[in-house]
This record gives sequence, structure tokens and C-alpha cells, in this order.
Amino acid sequence: MPKIDIMIECPSCNGTGLYSGMAEGEGIAVICYKCKGSGKYHFVYSYNKFKGRKKKEGIKRVFLKGTQYKIGLGVINFDKVGPIDMDKEGVSYQEFLDGKMPEHITKLECPMLADQGACHDTPGFTEKCNELNGGWIGFLSDCKHQLKKEECWKRFYNTK
Ligand SMILES: [Zn+2]
Repeated sequence: MPKIDIMIECPSCNGTGLYSGMAEGEGIAVICYKCKGSGKYHFVYSYNKFKGRKKKEGIKRVFLKGTQYKIGLGVINFDKVGPIDMDKEGVSYQEFLDGKMPEHITKLECPMLADQGACHDTPGFTEKCNELNGGWIGFLSDCKHQLKKEECWKRFYNTK
């Protein structure tokens, strides 16, 4: 296994060996806890060189990201959502290996639950969520439009 083994400037004290924090008065320093005053830091890092993506044993399906539900293979009866055939969501491992990427499981979660960051990055998206709910959504799981999440997914993909 290749190894990076270099002596670097102590990142904690910028190589001075000294530390002056809030408890040290004007003109005072204490010995840096990390390098014990030497100002140097022995950086060692072992790594595997990337030689292409490796296979992961035992994987059958690949989904874009984790959800608030535990996900698995086959038909799963999700609480408050109903049954979803998970073998028809995401992509097979072979498809992933062939370069296909999975999409969101739109039947399971609304865009806000699945990808809040992207929703916030889309101008007007969360305002519309609030508007559809007649005001402010305190908890995402309270959103009335979890029942109409197809519409929200349309909003999500249309604005992309
Ligand atoms: Zn130091």
C-alpha cells in the first residue's frame, strides 16, 4: 500500500510551536499541544491508488440516496405511502456498472424530503410549498402535498 510520509508545518500552530488562545494574555504563548513545541508535524497517510471502480459484492439494486424509510428489494409496504415495487425503482447493479445513474424514488418522498438542497437552490420552490399548504410548513412530514407529491416532482423537474 503506497504511503505519503512527509514532515509538514504543524497545522495547529502554523509551524511556530506556540499557541495563544483566549486564555493567554498579551505577549504570552503556550506550547502547542499538537507538535509539543517543535512546529513540525509528521504526516503519514496510507492509501490505495485508484485503478478503476471496484465491484461491491452482494448488491442487486442501486438507489440515488437514502430516504427516511428503510429501503430494500421487492415490494415494500411503506407506512403512509403504500406498496412500492422497489425492483422497478432505481437501477440494477448491472445498469449502474454500465454507467446508468438512478433517479429519485418519486413515489416514496416529495422533492423536499428527497433533496432539500436542490429545492432551496430552485428560486420560488419552497415558497410554493408553503403556499400550497396555506402558509408555513413547520415539519416537512406534515406537508399536505405529500399526497400530491407527483405534482411537486413536476415542479421540481420542470424548473431544472
Ligand atoms: Zn504545533
